[in-house]
Amino acid sequence: MNNNKVALITGASKGIGAAIAKKLASQNIKVAINYNSSQLDALQVKNEITALGGVAEVFKADVSDRQAVSRLFEEVESVLGQVNLLVNNAGVVENRLLTNMEEEAWDKVIDTNLKACFLVSQRAASAMCRSRFGRILNIASTCGFVGTVGQVNYSASKGGIIAMTRSMAKELSSYNITVNSIAPGFIETDMTDGFDSSPQGRQVLKKILMSRPGTVAEVANMAAFLLSDENSYMTGQSVVLDGGLSV
Ligand code: NAP
Repeated sequence: MNNNKVALITGASKGIGAAIAKKLASQNIKVAINYNSSQLDALQVKNEITALGGVAEVFKADVSDRQAVSRLFEEVESVLGQVNLLVNNAGVVENRLLTNMEEEAWDKVIDTNLKACFLVSQRAASAMCRSRFGRILNIASTCGFVGTVGQVNYSASKGGIIAMTRSMAKELSSYNITVNSIAPGFIETDMTDGFDSSPQGRQVLKKILMSRPGTVAEVANMAAFLLSDENSYMTGQSVVLDGGLSV
């Protein structure tokens, strides 16, 4: 049944996005690996998938750019078919204290993490509405619930994702489209490289009930469930996946 499904994962050249792409491909879902700058990493993800018999293709696009998003969908649809499963995962950090934050750092994070989710979801949802089926999964963060020092831009973007998830769920439910998000805590990726040895990171580690950072595979497992036919009833929710950090 899954072999007719096409998943687009934004920012799948590494980290959480790459893990979600590999997990979905292992379930016979065709995956569109979007990247912006890390072409070699994206090709490596594709090669790992195809070596195991999966179907994957790479697509370059800056998802914060409306024209690039439009081209991305034209390419994905012509190569793999209509996108039924969408993962809005692409994200960046530009950490500064509020009083030192340049407008550029604010704009970059809001455009990549929040505006891109709007642009990509809008385009995907139009086609999903016509076919009366779809699953949208947004990657938020616990920072969208709990304020973090040096991340007013990032926290605002992730809080926006959580709120957008609820609104989109209300608009799209009558088309058999579910919209959920995962709010990870501290997951080991390039984005958090070195964090565990910083003073702030050591404090965070002490508060994680499971006494360790999460892995990309653990996020991918939750993503695969939320995108699957087994999850036909949960919508509008944000699943906190943080090893008990925020309890
Ligand atoms: P990562 O390893 O740094 O990967 C980020 C991905 O986003 C890369 O594939 C990157 O692709 C892509 N990307 C960035 N800007 C893009 C753009 N304009 N257009 C298209 N793709 C773009 O980070 P990660 O830790 O896996 O994070 C993935 C998501 O999880 C993010 O939304 C992040 O906020 C969220 N998250 C992460 C953690 C954590 O602890 N790691 C916790 C909570 C939430 P290129 O390199 O090709 O540009």
